[in-house]
Amino acid sequence: MKKRLGNLEIGDQSETAAFVDAPQLFVLARSELADSAKDLYSYFGAAEQSLRPSPHSAESVVEAAGRTCYLSFANSSGRSTTDYIENLVRQGHESVLEHVSWTFVLTGVSRAFTHQMVRHRVGFAYSQLSQQYVDHRSIRFVIPSELLMNPDLLPSWKGAVLAQRQTYVDLVESLNSAQSNLGSRERVRSMRSAARSVLPNCVEAVIAVTGNARSWRHFLEVRGSTEGDIEMRRVCALLLSTLKQEAPSIFFDFAQQSFGDGWPIVKKIAS
Ligand SMILES: Cc1cc2nc3c(=O)[nH]c(=O)nc-3n(C[C@H](O)[C@H](O)[C@H](O)COP(=O)(O)OP(=O)(O)OC[C@H]3O[C@@H](n4cnc5c(N)ncnc54)[C@H](O)[C@@H]3O)c2cc1C
Repeated sequence: MKKRLGNLEIGDQSETAAFVDAPQLFVLARSELADSAKDLYSYFGAAEQSLRPSPHSAESVVEAAGRTCYLSFANSSGRSTTDYIENLVRQGHESVLEHVSWTFVLTGVSRAFTHQMVRHRVGFAYSQLSQQYVDHRSIRFVIPSELLMNPDLLPSWKGAVLAQRQTYVDLVESLNSAQSNLGSRERVRSMRSAARSVLPNCVEAVIAVTGNARSWRHFLEVRGSTEGDIEMRRVCALLLSTLKQEAPSIFFDFAQQSFGDGWPIVKKIAS
């Protein structure tokens, strides 16, 4: 019997349901200025209009946190939020950016990609699809962008991947009927642990990731422009376009550019 899990048709082992060719990003959560921030401003004698509501609420949080350093809530110089934050970034005063974070869920990314992502330790939190708790008999596989550019290579690649998935299915079913002294929950964990050993690096791995603005900037800087890592570049392009909508001032010095292979590349530009 089939059941839906987002775009995943669990139980659907057809070839058409087996492949995904693009990463997707969902915004799960963001930092926003609390109503009570105005109490802070008035506590320090700043006029109510000093706390200018920004359409990009995360930027207001960064500005208010930054103004705590010099008790400059009154904004006597009349600086705009954009100007204030861009100046923080130019001065390298980036710890202030750690006060805001975004949580994204990524789908259509490979386990190879998520393994690279989770190496980023500072300012990030992760929750990733479990290969032990979730049956992968109808999991999808991420088509490498290089093969989308060379479609004549796709049939043999798809054949190899589907054969590996069939081995996974065979292993789960054989181990399910084998003798075991484990209880049912641990038995399932054990058989999936063994069967997943044949899943390829391109198996889809859904991941939830929370990162603060400073960490996202570091991630984009380190990962966005590795020319030969197209999957990473595509995810970084998605991240950057979302983050620029969320907080353009915090990410003003990053740009998405086109690259000779037709896929985007993310670069830090002179500020
Ligand atoms: C092109 C490329 C190729 C790579 N190849 C490999 C590879 O072959 N093998 C491999 O294992 N990894 C590889 N990596 C991963 C890389 O080594 C990092 O683990 C990964 O990019 C995370 O970066 P980070 O440590 O800067 O990030 P984070 O862990 O988020 O750290 C952010 C920053 O905090 C500081 N920091 C964090 N932890 C410490 C610490 N313990 N001590 C001092 N300062 C700290 C550093 O300034 C660091 O840059 C590669 C990365 C790239 C971009």
